[in-house]
Amino acid sequence: MFCDYICDMTKVYLNKRIQPRIASGHPWIYNNEIDRVAGPIEAGDIVEVYYFDGQLAGRGYINPDSQIMIRLLTRKREEINASFFHQKISEAWAYRQKLGYTENCRLVFGEADGLPALIVDKFNDYFVIQTLSLGIEKWKAEIIAAINTIFNPKGIYERNDVPVRELEGLIQQKGFLTDPFPTEIIIKENDLQFYVNIETGQKTGYFLDQQDNRRAIQNIVKGADVLGAFTYTGTFEIHAAHYGAKSVLGIDISESAVEQANKNAVLNKLDHIVKFEAMNAFDVLKNWGREGKKYDVVMLDPPAFTKSRNNIDKAVTGYKEINLRGMQLLRNGGFLVTSSCTNLVSPELFLDTIYMAARDAKKRIRQVTYQTQSSDHPIIWGMENTHYLKFLIVEVCDR
Ligand code: SAH
Repeated sequence: MFCDYICDMTKVYLNKRIQPRIASGHPWIYNNEIDRVAGPIEAGDIVEVYYFDGQLAGRGYINPDSQIMIRLLTRKREEINASFFHQKISEAWAYRQKLGYTENCRLVFGEADGLPALIVDKFNDYFVIQTLSLGIEKWKAEIIAAINTIFNPKGIYERNDVPVRELEGLIQQKGFLTDPFPTEIIIKENDLQFYVNIETGQKTGYFLDQQDNRRAIQNIVKGADVLGAFTYTGTFEIHAAHYGAKSVLGIDISESAVEQANKNAVLNKLDHIVKFEAMNAFDVLKNWGREGKKYDVVMLDPPAFTKSRNNIDKAVTGYKEINLRGMQLLRNGGFLVTSSCTNLVSPELFLDTIYMAARDAKKRIRQVTYQTQSSDHPIIWGMENTHYLKFLIVEVCDR
């Protein structure tokens, strides 16, 4: 990246109307927000960005083939090089440590850490990375070098098997970025242990974003019969058993998730309390309600029902249905623990949907807890899509 010094970097000038959004901190520049470009553009290159009035907006990477044409990496005239990435990743780690994270955390949460489209999850000595845009993919070697220097890890794995990369003209791929290592590791969370398969698990292998929320169930599950649906590897359910539930049943449609969940129950010596079965949660919630089965606590943590704005209505219908059925499965005064992980459904829309479900189920609900993702996934105010997880506990009473 000597080029910064010996040749002029391509300059991009923005439209007038986008200035306030970029000036207030948003790092994305769409292709229709650019006024003019001075210099050649090669996809993935670093360019210097100016506001309409000629003031420096910052430096970022460009991809003319992507709808988000530029993502800013800095607001200064600084060099983007290996030490830039080292510095950013060190800062991200220092922030997590300040918040109390020691072993496992989302170390880099993309834009929220000033490293657009980069995800790094730390599972004690192992790291899983995703480079979700061309501009960040180009710096993969520098990012790996920084992780190696800062952490001296036992292994780094790439989980770039995600469709979003194709929007950037990248292929999907996964594999080792260090010498190979056994990819089923064990992590600790809230005094419990969990197997995480970073090669075959969903996303990066484990949902770190719910780690604080799993603790939030600790009082309401004591002595309770608990039903969990969309359990993945059983983290919430095993927490419920650990916190004193009488019985816990977890349902997931994925056979491999259920197998892993049952293994996690054994690992924590809680398999006499918690069991997992592979079933479709939509069927279970519907049929068991009809059969009159009852629980003290129902926990729902479904996948994102939509990845596109065009399907929000369908997603809301899905959320409403499972929450309504979940409420119908509760004994009077039981608790519904419910989540939504898509940023396309806003917190307001999610809460409204739960309210509609309660009305249709003829239940009164009383809010116990309302939270979002854990703080290793920071929410940047002004960047709505960084606020994606909704987590709600309500007490549900007959009307
Ligand atoms: N609660 C988990 C994360 C759940 S992710 C945790 O904290 O780790 C959502 C899960 O829903 C996935 O494991 C997926 O396999 C499952 N799933 C998707 N559709 C389903 C369906 N129709 N019935 C049951 N499970 C489903």
